[in-house]
Amino acid sequence: MSIRLYNTMSREKETFVPLEEGKVKMYVCGPTVYNYIHIGNARPAIVFDTLRRYLAYKGYEVTFVQNITDVDDKLIRKANEEQTTVAELADRYTVAYNQDLQGVNVLPPDIQPRVMNTIPEIISFIEGLIEKGFAYESEGDVYFRTNRFNEYGKLSHQPLDDLQAGARIEVNEKKENPLDFALWKAAKPQEISWESPWGAGRPGWHIECSAMALRFLGESIDIHAGGTDLTFPHHENEIAQSECFTGKPFARYWMHNAMLNIDNEKMSKSLGNFLLARDLIAKYTGQLIRFFMLSGHYRSPINFSDEMLEQAANGLDRIKNAYVNLGHRLNTAREEEPNGLAQEQAQLIESLRKRFEEEMDDDLNTANGITVLFDIAKEANLYTRHDNVGATEIKAYRQLLEELSSVLGLILQEEATLLDEEIELLIAERTEARKARNFARSDEIRDQLQEMGIILEDTPQGIRWRRK
Ligand SMILES: [Zn+2]
Repeated sequence: MSIRLYNTMSREKETFVPLEEGKVKMYVCGPTVYNYIHIGNARPAIVFDTLRRYLAYKGYEVTFVQNITDVDDKLIRKANEEQTTVAELADRYTVAYNQDLQGVNVLPPDIQPRVMNTIPEIISFIEGLIEKGFAYESEGDVYFRTNRFNEYGKLSHQPLDDLQAGARIEVNEKKENPLDFALWKAAKPQEISWESPWGAGRPGWHIECSAMALRFLGESIDIHAGGTDLTFPHHENEIAQSECFTGKPFARYWMHNAMLNIDNEKMSKSLGNFLLARDLIAKYTGQLIRFFMLSGHYRSPINFSDEMLEQAANGLDRIKNAYVNLGHRLNTAREEEPNGLAQEQAQLIESLRKRFEEEMDDDLNTANGITVLFDIAKEANLYTRHDNVGATEIKAYRQLLEELSSVLGLILQEEATLLDEEIELLIAERTEARKARNFARSDEIRDQLQEMGIILEDTPQGIRWRRK
């Protein structure tokens, strides 16, 4: 069965056929790193990480690029407020972003380019657009000449004429047309800037994604994705820039996830329901947040509330408990069969796997995929209730549950825990290492303990430890 994905461009589910057999080039728009991400930002990260995992499960070799916007008005303002540099602020929140995503078990991108490291490519991209007549310089700014691209509006299904008529009349005399958008912005005094053929300045927002996709994935890519709020103008502008520059179609499939509401309201600072991903990960665990996000279809809005999270916790427990029960039952099961699974069991397991794949093939229907996981848990529970169970069957159920859960980024194995004696031994070894000035080893032990959730505290009586 082939995968079918809803393409915002055609407004239809289409059979997924990559440009190059067996390979997928995927670009997902990343964060502007001026603050911690809120829970709504975690949704595209989780959804498209799941798509990436599913494509890999189906045997595709995926190259996944996600940009970091580390220069823009918000960063400049915040850096000024904090009396720091834009680069320092961006570094800090890039680290935080990556931590938060790791917290919900999102795989790191293969390439995570930053604007500050892409300036030469951005400048030559803009120069190319000017040469071809698709862009013009105006008092140190450069704008894209929107009415030179007849297909402008094709992604968001808004004809150019309608957009022109609806465009608010801006008092920006630098532009030929209100719909034109900035590719390059002349630097204001004291602002971070780079030299360019148009004087000191910095890139507009949209151009970075076109330049980065071209640099790291080539002229045409398979999947371009992001939140539905990016469809217009951001993705529309990316298409205009890229297709005018290369003369080729930019992305084959455009995918957009719906928004997330909090207690049935749009999240906003003024409503006071602005929830940071890291706070919610600490409160509920990253696994539960991930499970909750995937329990709805990515194109439907999802509502975040304590009640919904409680429901999700029950669901996740059902799957985890079935997995743990299988592990316990292994102790009292018959030995493994040399000939493998009996035909009936093999067929049942295969049919469950097939059902999961059919749901996921259908535009990444993770909600129904989770329902199949519940069914696997149910079948596994029924099986373990027999008096005479076999290790072969138990292992087959366990493997199926583990494998399909990991496609959704869910981890069923219990975290490794250290016994008290093991911790004491490691601490003693660390103390010795420090005495011997072997700080590399001492740091290694501290990191290892930290990963296992053990916190060390220096006290006058020596090192004390506690579990997180
Ligand atoms: Zn983008």
